[in-house]
Amino acid sequence: MCGILYVIATPIGNMDDITIRALSILSSVDYIAAEDTRKTGNLLAHHKISHGKLISYNEYNENRRGLELINKLKEGKSIALVSNAGTPLISDPGYSLIKISIENNIKVIPIPGPSALIASLSASGMPTDSFIFIGFLPKKETKRIELLKKLSKEERTLIFYESPKRIISLLEEIIKIMGDRYGVLARELTKIHEEFLRGMLSSIIRDIKNRPSVKGECTLIIKYDETIKEEITVEALRSEIYEALKNSKNKLSIISKDIAKKYGISKDEVYEEALKIKANLPFEELSLYDSVDKA
Ligand code: SAM
Repeated sequence: MCGILYVIATPIGNMDDITIRALSILSSVDYIAAEDTRKTGNLLAHHKISHGKLISYNEYNENRRGLELINKLKEGKSIALVSNAGTPLISDPGYSLIKISIENNIKVIPIPGPSALIASLSASGMPTDSFIFIGFLPKKETKRIELLKKLSKEERTLIFYESPKRIISLLEEIIKIMGDRYGVLARELTKIHEEFLRGMLSSIIRDIKNRPSVKGECTLIIKYDETIKEEITVEALRSEIYEALKNSKNKLSIISKDIAKKYGISKDEVYEEALKIKANLPFEELSLYDSVDKA
């Protein structure tokens, strides 16, 4: 008879955020496969559970160690899989272990508990009826931009994970690609410095920049911008800019801002396109105000 693989959620900060069932299984299993044995050791010590059965299982050794764990399960041993924080596999190791276990008819039982995405969303005040968990964005810039462009039309609430080191650049990149939106930055949940920064992303950036440093774990939640009404093709966009340059009395920056807002696209992108169109427009076709202003 194969043993059972338990997927156990552990705290995301406050060590007491763990279920009675999780503690009971951690006490009774043969092995605990942990992302960081030192961190899980602290949690076990806090709850007076023996450290003796800890085995390291992380992104660096998951292939080799995964096979060893499968063999132990096949021998009938029971194993608890835990990560450093929250639910294993949610932006954490474990996927291949669960997949191979299922392929080998090994029973996998989840022991639910904390996850930063659900904790953040539940108190964010954002629509919760339908949401997308993005997790960490790709490291490669082209892939990241491509994904953000795709997400800019998404009507569901978006949830991102990010490290405090990159949070400002993430917010700036989102504004550049998706426009300024309403968001919530959930920081250090369940810990002493827990806070929710709510507001337009630009105002969250201002708030963070006013601090000497940003530390701690961050989850970012973004709301769909309801002002996005229409899809526009590049050709239609160019023709709208062209018409506005000919007829509007407004400055280029205002024209770009209005068009960007109307279609829910980045102001910088429209402005760049407007500059190109303006450079090719004969002087007499520019509206009086714009030609004088930009002469
Ligand atoms: N498995 C975890 C879960 O279920 O939430 C996530 C692990 S992932 C490696 C770590 C990321 O989760 C952090 O970079 C941060 O974005 C988010 N996170 C973890 N703990 C958090 C907390 N206490 N407050 C806010 N965000 C947190």
